[in-house]
Amino acid sequence: MIEFFEVHKAYPVGQKQVTALHPTSFKIPTGQIYGLIGHSGAGKSTLLRLINRLEEPSSGRIEVDGEDITLLDANGLRGFRRQVGMIFQHFNLLSSKTVAENVALPLQLAGELSRKVIQNKVAALLQRVGLQDHANKYPAQLSGGQKQRVGIARALSTDPKILLCDEATSALDPQTTGQVLQLLAEINKELGLTLVLITHEMDVIRRICDQVAVLDAGVIVEQGRVADVFLHPQHPTTRRFVYEAEQVDENQLHQDFDQVQGRILRLTFQGQSTYEPLLGRVARETGVDFTLLAGRIDRIRDVPYGQLTVAFNGGELEQAMQLLQQADVHVEALR
Ligand code: ADP
Repeated sequence: MIEFFEVHKAYPVGQKQVTALHPTSFKIPTGQIYGLIGHSGAGKSTLLRLINRLEEPSSGRIEVDGEDITLLDANGLRGFRRQVGMIFQHFNLLSSKTVAENVALPLQLAGELSRKVIQNKVAALLQRVGLQDHANKYPAQLSGGQKQRVGIARALSTDPKILLCDEATSALDPQTTGQVLQLLAEINKELGLTLVLITHEMDVIRRICDQVAVLDAGVIVEQGRVADVFLHPQHPTTRRFVYEAEQVDENQLHQDFDQVQGRILRLTFQGQSTYEPLLGRVARETGVDFTLLAGRIDRIRDVPYGQLTVAFNGGELEQAMQLLQQADVHVEALR
């Protein structure tokens, strides 16, 4: 539904042009939660803001539902922007207006609905984001999580089909982050809305995204289903994000490798195999001994996974690896 064709963006800085996004082609399917991850300066905001033409591409074409949005005139762009909501890291609420007035603003600016209809719509939106009791408060009277809920209600007021999220949880504490991400996931499901979110945290991607693209210096260096990218990162930048999320110190881990004998394997379990008592069974049947060096059991969206770094010693190693693979465990030799 959102498709980039060789989209390039450079900013003029003095006499020079600084490239923020090298020619990039990729697709975001309708109804997905699509994450863009990268370090500061990687080009995430630029890419996100190209989708609603807050930034104009230097070259290339962007299509939304088959329509080339780079060709829209001012009138067409106004209509298009109503189909694209946006939420921001620092919420961007008007401090002099109440919660209800902030949410009503895009509808008042559109000028198409009566006051009564707007009032009803705002009440329903506030109910949806759990702020029905805060309609007459001012932003300064709200917590960060509540402010972002106002931001979400406001973004939804024009019934958009795309929601752009610009580091929407980066200013929030971990618990509030979880609640806001859950709300976004619910909205995606209920409304079939396409969500594009940018973040510098792999955990945000892991919790709610279907697909992810990793941006590094204006280039998408890796992309795919979150489970594939998260569990088997290929590019060094992606690996750094994953290790950071898993709180793994790669150097420390390699020092641990020197302390053990035998083959070192990384075993990845997903879905049902996460619950199987496999390691003990394989050890008994093949006579291998094992040492656990690192591990994590968690979820990617709703699917449980486990990833263990294990040293196997003695016994029938090949047979052990075969048994694991037969049980749908992904086996990767690290040493
Ligand atoms: P991110 O969102 O990943 O931090 P940005 O898209 O903001 O990255 O920036 C990508 C690159 O483009 C950076 O080098 C940044 O300095 C540059 N850049 C962004 N906006 C502008 C601008 N308005 N003028 C000049 N350079 C810019």
